[in-house]
Amino acid sequence: MFETLKHGAWIEKKVQTAEEKIEPVLKKIGQNADFMQWKVLEAFREMKVSEIHLHSSTGYGYDDLGRETFEAVFARVFGAEKALVRPNIISGTHAIAACLYGVLRPGDELIYLTGRPYDTLHQVIGSYQDGSGSLRDYGIEYREIPLAEGQRIDWDTFREAVSPKTKMVAIQRSRGYADRPSFSIREIETMIRKIREICPQAVVFVDNCYGEFVESKEPTAVGADLIAGSLIKNPGGGIAKSGGYIAGAEKWVERAGSRLVAPGIGTEGGATHGYMHDYYQGLFLAPHVVAEALKGAVFAAAFLEEAGFQTTPGWEEPRTDIIQQVYLGTPELLVAFCQGIQSASPVDAHILPVPSPMPGYEDEVVMAAGTFVQGASIELSADGPLRAPYIAYMQGGLTYSHVKIGMAKAMDFILETGQIDGTLQV
Ligand SMILES: *Cc1c(COP(=O)(O)O)cnc(C)c1O
Repeated sequence: MFETLKHGAWIEKKVQTAEEKIEPVLKKIGQNADFMQWKVLEAFREMKVSEIHLHSSTGYGYDDLGRETFEAVFARVFGAEKALVRPNIISGTHAIAACLYGVLRPGDELIYLTGRPYDTLHQVIGSYQDGSGSLRDYGIEYREIPLAEGQRIDWDTFREAVSPKTKMVAIQRSRGYADRPSFSIREIETMIRKIREICPQAVVFVDNCYGEFVESKEPTAVGADLIAGSLIKNPGGGIAKSGGYIAGAEKWVERAGSRLVAPGIGTEGGATHGYMHDYYQGLFLAPHVVAEALKGAVFAAAFLEEAGFQTTPGWEEPRTDIIQQVYLGTPELLVAFCQGIQSASPVDAHILPVPSPMPGYEDEVVMAAGTFVQGASIELSADGPLRAPYIAYMQGGLTYSHVKIGMAKAMDFILETGQIDGTLQV
């Protein structure tokens, strides 16, 4: 198949070198997938998952056996007291917002410990009382603690920031689309212990997006009170068509549920229409699918490094999420990278992505996303803002083969720009 590429011989060679290099890393990822698969199967067995649970409710959705059992399975896998996994949570942002509004009350303060949160949360937090219904609009105060040297938690600043009003401290596990490291479960465990020392009254929240199933534990198993994420990322296993989850201590999950629906109804209602079958099967597949995406990210890092690009994390570095950052260095190379990935997509491969303005972003953004589920980033996708140092954030891949082909095609597009020399180092 390399013959169909313009620079196939060079690319094939680099693919081989990269694959040989990463073999031990892929093996480790496979071992974690085995462990997590076991954990998921144990939870299915313990909760006696049966054919009847795969069907869904209608109307109010009271006493939905499938949903209740699924949420119990999910909570077990995540080491949480309780979980809400719902199709009426429309995205990760919605799940996170329900947690914040569920816990915080006027006069309380929220502190983000890991620097500036993910873009979509800026308007949830709000910058002034503008009637939009943001947290600020409800008189909830907000502070964030910028990472020291862009890397580490600044405990001194946190200590000074904490006050009796500090009700909630938030941690973002994944880098998301920021140029900073992601935080491992071990680091999160240490953070939570320190937060408890400095601010014992705080509810500790973790934005767990992109982290699920990457390590052998989730933040709820190492002390987080509340976590949230999206089902069209890792835990939906590429099967869930939409939805989000909230998990943690029963009290706080109930509060988030009251906010999500209405006080008095809380977590008790909510029809699951046709979703339950996909949710069960998606959770069953998630350990494997996340491992495929991770293997793909490791391959991409090694392959792109072979071609002279800087990548974060490096192929041999430990990972806690599925995001791969690639420093392309010029706008042309960033666009070529995304166009190459798009051309290897199962859907819309014939479409050429071009940079365009996006609401909420200062610079134009270029995106590759030929996915079965709109916006699903557990499927192979890549994007980046058109600003220096021209970083592409790539993630996902339902199969390792797909990511490999995506990278080969991306490299073909890159070499076509003439900006890197594909005759060197063969
Ligand atoms: C994806 C993501 C979110 C939520 O995004 P949605 O697109 O609303 O699902 C929040 N935080 C982080 C770190 C993310 O990666």
